[in-house]
Amino acid sequence: MAELKPCPFCGGRARVIQSDPLEKGKKEFYVFGVYCTDCGGLMRKCAEEDAVKAWNRRAEK
Ligand SMILES: [Zn+2]
Repeated sequence: MAELKPCPFCGGRARVIQSDPLEKGKKEFYVFGVYCTDCGGLMRKCAEEDAVKAWNRRAEK
């Protein structure tokens, strides 16, 4: 898995989280997110890879 950059908001430590399954009709799906353990910043995506990419893109700016 790609390495997570520090939090773009506070520079804190980030980790990948996975939410509880959400029910949409008969389908179940999971929402992944990257979460900052210091400031609570959260970026949610439907896929873990997308969440990590989005987080790292944001951290670079
Ligand atoms: Zn943070």
